[in-house]
Amino acid sequence: MRLSDTHCHLYLSQFEEDLPFVLQRSRQAGIEFMLIPGLDLETSQAAIRLAEKYENIYAAVGFHPNEAYKWDETSAESIRQLSQHPKVLAIGEIGLDYYRNTTDKEVQMEVLQQQLQLAAGMDLPVIIHNRKASDDLYPILLDWQKGMATSTKNHAKQAGVLHAFNEDHPLLEKLVEANFYFGMGGPITYANNKNMSLLVTSIPINRLLLETDAPFLPPHPYRGQRNEPAYTQLIAAKIATLLSKEVDEIAEITFSNTTRLFSWRREH
Ligand SMILES: [Zn+2]
Repeated sequence: MRLSDTHCHLYLSQFEEDLPFVLQRSRQAGIEFMLIPGLDLETSQAAIRLAEKYENIYAAVGFHPNEAYKWDETSAESIRQLSQHPKVLAIGEIGLDYYRNTTDKEVQMEVLQQQLQLAAGMDLPVIIHNRKASDDLYPILLDWQKGMATSTKNHAKQAGVLHAFNEDHPLLEKLVEANFYFGMGGPITYANNKNMSLLVTSIPINRLLLETDAPFLPPHPYRGQRNEPAYTQLIAAKIATLLSKEVDEIAEITFSNTTRLFSWRREH
């Protein structure tokens, strides 16, 4: 069984002391691909350093909406340069966060728009963070994608992933049509999470991705502890139960989804 963790923050201090052991456990759990998104310039560089060090680790670069206040007139060019690294597979994580609100909405939107344009220019998919901002965010993403409808570029077909996707939304079908993928993580395993269970069955299976968001959002029974990529197994197992399939099949399908979305640069 081979698994992919499409979203983990292994450069954070929670992994400082034992990363080699974390990676050893991830290998034992069948994780053959890990994608590490940046949150700002420093963490984007840190993600690339890990990708340079470990064969099955890849990076994404970008400014998270909670860090958007750090964006200045040099940031776009810095991210563009980092995105040329052969192990950078996406721009992310980018998006809108109206829950923590560290940055004005207008600034968040401007930083998001600039990074969407950058992704289009570099022909890279995006990794989208969203908290309490769907009604503003989804129309922006759909507009962005519509602008590329006639493009022959790769990301016109493989737009990106809505990371930690967790809500049934009137625009869900449109997002599917616009070639977005949907990241499923730890919360799906929480016993009281009926909405998530329903949601998984309403998304086409060829658009599901597995992700831990480690060190955050640990799956059951690790709630309250540090999350790590090896726990991707538990998310795959829960999705298998919900869809009445074997876990091997879910692993294989989500792995090929991951490859389809992020493989462009690896094949060239
Ligand atoms: Zn994240």
